[in-house]
Amino acid sequence: MRPMPFSLVGLTLQELQNFMQRWNEPSYRGDQLAGWLYKTPVASFDEMTNISIRVRERLKQEMILHPCKIETIRVSQDGTRKYLLSLHDSELIEAVFIPEEDRRTVCVSSQVGCKMGCTFCATGAKGFYRNLTAGEILDQILQIALDVGEVPSNVVFMGMGEPLANYGALLKAIQIINAPWGFNIGIRQLTVSTCGLIPGIQRLGREKLGLTLAVSLHAADDEKRSRIMPINRVYGLDELMVALRGYVAMTGRRVTVEYALMAGFNDKMEDAAALARLLKGLLCHINLIPINPIRAGLHQRPRPAEIEKFQAMLQRDGLTVSIRKERGEDIEAACGQLKGEWEGVDHEASW
Ligand code: SF4
Repeated sequence: MRPMPFSLVGLTLQELQNFMQRWNEPSYRGDQLAGWLYKTPVASFDEMTNISIRVRERLKQEMILHPCKIETIRVSQDGTRKYLLSLHDSELIEAVFIPEEDRRTVCVSSQVGCKMGCTFCATGAKGFYRNLTAGEILDQILQIALDVGEVPSNVVFMGMGEPLANYGALLKAIQIINAPWGFNIGIRQLTVSTCGLIPGIQRLGREKLGLTLAVSLHAADDEKRSRIMPINRVYGLDELMVALRGYVAMTGRRVTVEYALMAGFNDKMEDAAALARLLKGLLCHINLIPINPIRAGLHQRPRPAEIEKFQAMLQRDGLTVSIRKERGEDIEAACGQLKGEWEGVDHEASW
């Protein structure tokens, strides 16, 4: 593997100040760098106009500014933009920009590939390559900000990979996204989505960060869930529910339960009843997701009437339920699909 070129993206303010001091520069240069990296992102060192030309020249010689590079962008009719980004070792990741009336959300990847092997996921089908660094996670946001001309209001860790399996980089990225000297995005505007990695859920709960934890549940009995999510064979539903209750107790935050509806598999009324039983007493919001069928066509989406019936049944049991609005369906916005297509074609590595 090619050694990773050094980039300042992913360094905290303190680290940037220390870095500048090691170059015999005043520590406020670190503050200036943080501004250009996270507040008013720029595409080149030359645009960092309040940094002396001498320092800019040295930066250009000794490091790269951005660890990610946009390879291709697909734009949906609804304005959703899906990005394929390459890394220094030619690995590919995906990120998505979702503009809505009241928010601008960026969905980022946390790993190249994923070990979790969920059967409904194009990323899981390809296996795991490596963790992303905090800089590579943050640079997805920066590349999108440079492309669309604004820093997003919300960030969701729901792209490729299991974020809690890359805990250190995740936490550092969250710190920089949230910091006043960083992106300055409110902690409540951040969502971390997990397939149910219990040690990570417990650890995140202990941080008491106040972000939203989303858990991909997708089935309310162990036998079914283990068939589509191998993680369930390690951490079963009883244990997961205990961890979620613990998370709510530690943070005071309601959790989001993601439930992807798959026709004939988990969309029957008895499935809704089992789900209601399982979630009884848990402070949660249920997000029903009409599944985006992957190429293998293993799972199909239920008809809209069936989805609404499922929602009504849960609501009758007093649960808060919404149906996720489709975004970017015409550009296959589900993670892993664009990468899969790109890899099927011969592209020259450009790093
Ligand atoms: S759904 Fe998430 S956790 Fe499961 S394989 Fe895909 S990326 Fe990994």
